[in-house]
Amino acid sequence: MAKQDDSFKKLTSHCKEYGFIFQSSEIYDGLAAVYDYGPYGVELKNNIKQYWWQAMVQMHENIVGIDAAIFMHPKTWKASGHVDAFNDPMLDNKDSKKRYRADVLVEEYMEKLDAKADKEVAKAKKRFGDDFDEAMYRETNPRVKGYLDKKAAIGTRLATAMTNSDLVDMKAMIEELEIVCPVSGSKNWTDVRQFNLMFSTQLGVVAGEESILYLRPETAQGIFVNFLNVQKTSRQKIPFGIAQIGKAFRNEIVARQFIFRMREFEQMEMQFFIAPGKDEQFYQHWKAERMKWHLRLHPQEKLRYHDHENLAHYASAAVDIQFEFPFGFRELEGIHARGGFDLTQHQELSGRKITYFDNERDESYTPHVVETSIGVDRMFLATMTNAYTEEVVPDAKGNDSVRIVLKIAPALAPIKCAVLPLLKNKPELTAKAREVLKGLQHAFTCQYDEKDAIGRRYRRQDAIGTPYCVTIDFDTLEDNTVTVRDRDTLEQVRVDISEVEGMIAGKVSMNELFRE
Ligand code: ATP
Repeated sequence: MAKQDDSFKKLTSHCKEYGFIFQSSEIYDGLAAVYDYGPYGVELKNNIKQYWWQAMVQMHENIVGIDAAIFMHPKTWKASGHVDAFNDPMLDNKDSKKRYRADVLVEEYMEKLDAKADKEVAKAKKRFGDDFDEAMYRETNPRVKGYLDKKAAIGTRLATAMTNSDLVDMKAMIEELEIVCPVSGSKNWTDVRQFNLMFSTQLGVVAGEESILYLRPETAQGIFVNFLNVQKTSRQKIPFGIAQIGKAFRNEIVARQFIFRMREFEQMEMQFFIAPGKDEQFYQHWKAERMKWHLRLHPQEKLRYHDHENLAHYASAAVDIQFEFPFGFRELEGIHARGGFDLTQHQELSGRKITYFDNERDESYTPHVVETSIGVDRMFLATMTNAYTEEVVPDAKGNDSVRIVLKIAPALAPIKCAVLPLLKNKPELTAKAREVLKGLQHAFTCQYDEKDAIGRRYRRQDAIGTPYCVTIDFDTLEDNTVTVRDRDTLEQVRVDISEVEGMIAGKVSMNELFRE
C-alpha cells in the first residue's frame, strides 16, 4: 500500500511540475476536485479525444457526432431520472465532520478482505513453490475462503441495499462491520442520507421552480433528445450511433484521488440505437470493441471487465472496463444495455412521438440503446499511470543514473519532436535549428529548446514523453544531417534533414494505433 501511495504521489507531482495539470484557482488555495490542464496536459487530452473520435466516428460509417449544449430544458432531467434518483448515499462522521459515501466505505472494507486473502495466497505460494495450485488453494483454504465468502456476502447485501435505496441497511452494515472514519478513527456516524449530485443554477432573472437549470451530469441526454433530428438529417438507418465529447458536472461527495473523481469533467459517450431484441448482440459487440480500443494503448494485465452487481431497473446488462490505477482497479469506462428507457421517457415527458420506422421489419418502434461511456480525465490518468517510468540508464560519463520517462504512445504524446541546437551560444547552430523547426512545425507539434546541456534537455523531453529529439551539431552545418534520438531505445541515428519529417511523421501518426 505504501508503495502505491508513493507512486501516486510521484505521478501527481510530476503532472504539476511538468505542466500537465494544475489545481483550479490555485492562487486562492484551489477549488476541491476541480483541475486545469496545462500546456502539455491540453495536448495529451486533445490527442486522447482525437483517438476516440477517430475510432468511433471517423471509422464507422454508421456513427455520427454532435456537440449539444451543456444547459438543457429542466424536464430532460426529470425524464432521465436524475432529478429523483441521481443520488449517492452519504453520511458524516460526527467527530471529524468528514463526509463519506456509504457504499464507498463498504466497498473499501471489501477491498481489505480481498487484500487479506491475497496476502495469505502469496505466503502459501512462497511456502509451496512451483507445485502451488492457486485456484485450488483459494477454494479450499479455510482462512482464504472465509475472507472471500465474507466479501461476496457483503457485496450481495450492498447491491440489494443500493438497488432498493435501503439507507437503514447501509447504516446497519457500516455499524456491523465496525467501519471507522479514516480521519478520526471513530464509529460515531450520522444516519445515511441521499444526496443529489446535480449542480443547479437559474435561467434568466426570475427566480422560481420553473427557471431552475442543471449543469448536465452526463452528455448522454443531449444525444437522446436529438435522436430524431440526427436520424433524419444524417439519413442513418438503425443500427446506428451518435457520439459526443463534452463537459459534465457532478457534485461528488468523495472527491479525492486527483482527476479520478472530479466535480467538472469530460465524457466521451456513444449511444448506439438498435432494434428491440438486438440488445445482447450489440452489448457484446461494444464490450469487445471498447476493450480493443484500450488494448491498443495499455497492457492486458492492467485492464479487466467488472460486471455490475446492481443493475438499473431498465437495464439488461452493464459492465465496467476497469484499469489498474495506482490505488487499485477502478472503473474507466462503462458499457450499458439501456433498453428503450431513455427514448420512452423523453417521449412521455415531451409529448412528442420518438419512434423509428424500420423498413426491413415493416414496423415502427422505440429503439433500444447500448451505451459506451468513458471519462476523458480518467483516460488521461490511466495513460499517465501507464506511461510514468523510472529507469536506470547510463549518463554522459557512463555512470548509472535514474531517468524519468513518460512512455506515452507517440500518437498521444503532447510534443512529437524536440529540436535542439547542440550549443546555445553558436548562432550558426541556433539559426540552423530554427530552420529545421520551421520545416517540421506544420507536420506535428514541435518544441525548440536551447537552454542547458544537451543531456539535461533530453531528460526534460523524456519527462514530458517526447518520442523524438532532433539535434543540430557542427556536422549539420557541413553535411545537412542531424541526429534523431528515440525516447524509448535511446538510440541515435544520423539522417539527412530532408528525411526527418518522413521518418517521424509515420511513427507519431494516429494511424499507427490502428495498424493491426
Ligand atoms: P463512479 O461509479 O466511479 O462514480 P459512474 O458509474 O457514476 O462512476 P458513469 O455515470 O457510468 O460513472 O459515467 C461514465 C464515465 O464517466 C465513468 O466511467 C468515468 O470514466 C467518468 N466519470 C464519471 N464520474 C466522474 C467524475 N466525477 N470524475 C471524472 N470522471 C468521471
